[in-house]
Amino acid sequence: MPVMTEAKRHKSNDQKEFDILIIGAGIAGATTAIGLKRAGHNVVILERMPELPTISESIQIPPNGTRALEQLGVLTAVSKHAIALNDVSLRSYSDGSLLGKLELLPHMMERYLSPYLASQRVAFLKSIEDEARKLGVQIELGCMISSIDFEGASVNLIDGRMFNGDLIIGCDGALSQCRSLLLRRPDPPRHFGNKIFSCEFSQELLLDHEDLRDLIDLPGTPCWIGPGSLCIGNVVHENKTFNLIGGLEEPMTNEVQTHPQLSDMEEVKVFFKNWDPTLRKLLDLAPFCIKWTLTAIPDLHQWSHPAGKFILLGDSAHAMIPYLGQGAAQCMEDAVVLSRLLEQARHREQIPDVLTVFEDIRKPRVLPLKRRSEEMRDVYCMQDGPQQAERDRQLRDMEPYADYPIPWLDPEYLSWMYSYDAVREADDGWKKYCEGKWPGTRGAWKLNRMME
Ligand SMILES: Cc1cc2nc3c(=O)[nH]c(=O)nc-3n(C[C@H](O)[C@H](O)[C@H](O)COP(=O)(O)OP(=O)(O)OC[C@H]3O[C@@H](n4cnc5c(N)ncnc54)[C@H](O)[C@@H]3O)c2cc1C
Repeated sequence: MPVMTEAKRHKSNDQKEFDILIIGAGIAGATTAIGLKRAGHNVVILERMPELPTISESIQIPPNGTRALEQLGVLTAVSKHAIALNDVSLRSYSDGSLLGKLELLPHMMERYLSPYLASQRVAFLKSIEDEARKLGVQIELGCMISSIDFEGASVNLIDGRMFNGDLIIGCDGALSQCRSLLLRRPDPPRHFGNKIFSCEFSQELLLDHEDLRDLIDLPGTPCWIGPGSLCIGNVVHENKTFNLIGGLEEPMTNEVQTHPQLSDMEEVKVFFKNWDPTLRKLLDLAPFCIKWTLTAIPDLHQWSHPAGKFILLGDSAHAMIPYLGQGAAQCMEDAVVLSRLLEQARHREQIPDVLTVFEDIRKPRVLPLKRRSEEMRDVYCMQDGPQQAERDRQLRDMEPYADYPIPWLDPEYLSWMYSYDAVREADDGWKKYCEGKWPGTRGAWKLNRMME
């Protein structure tokens, strides 16, 4: 049941519409714009690129992400370009044998009341940007920022245009210019010693090969784990395109390649030459791939400016490596929490307090997930040896226990990760704030009392 679609802001004197500028029209920017627009505010997005990206890999949207999309009222639109996957199967790299399995259909709906979907990233992004536009969000493309006035809440563009607001939200991704401006120093994302490759296969191509048919007919997520890499495949859409995405080792001294570039398959085939024959067969069928450097940022402890009119959100605040498949879902949770808090704020003077409450709610959620994602890379990508043999034994033979090697096979961790309800978190936080019980705020909760 959409929660935020019902929100109507009263255009009376005691409940102000805020003018909000969002920098970046990625998943974080577009979902936040939708939430804020539904909360009754005026939203303009300033996006650097002159047009939407056209090539991309697949993206999986776990139940905590789809719950957030439903709360934003866009799950139906997104689902038109997505598919519900059957399962995730963890496979040994050398022969493809099964190490562990997570059933997704129908268990995700039964346990978490939200589906587990996969989509092509560009299709997903287009569907949320279209929804944002339909709601009246203004998306300005080709905006090159020259400076941000954090105290005055204005953004200057290189072409001379200036945008003013009550609040600026930096959603410009891991490479964030906003973050560098906030910290007053260059803050490039970290190289993790990996690059990513991604390639796509048509349904017709896979159906021609008897041993590859199951990838299409029983759409699941095979994950091969092995020395130096994790390789994941899944169908991305009901037209049954199959996407394969994986890591390749790369010296940290190499230049960071931030945007996907078309590339041939030679390096990929050499890297996986001793892996499961099924995976190698797939790689042989791929005519080309896209590649880019895997990056993330160190834990960031300052998301907002002390003046209380600017905050970072999404990857610009907490970009993580994708070994838990949670980065985008965390953007969507951010979007719901911030929108819901700003839906309830009645006065501009409350915005700085809202940002404090938002950061305090979100950091204890996002930062542990970010750290666990990094630990997961070492667990998945172990070299052959006694530790890897013991990992495989535990996965094959044992019931999950606390700190089980793969968190998404551990029901307790899974429940913590997938049950998160961003609306409830925001509402609990707002209630506590309105009782004057949120540390670090400036006392603007009293405005609510005065207006009652
Ligand atoms: C290989 C890989 C696989 C992943 N798989 C998953 C998955 O399955 N599930 C999941 O939940 N997450 C996944 N993630 C993580 C997810 O992709 C990110 O967390 C998410 O895309 C971040 O969204 P964002 O909007 O914060 O940033 P971005 O997607 O980087 O968007 C930032 C936007 O801001 C714009 N921009 C940049 N700089 C400026 C500027 N100076 N001015 C104006 N605009 C600017 C950009 O053009 C872009 O449109 C994966 C990540 C990777 C690398």
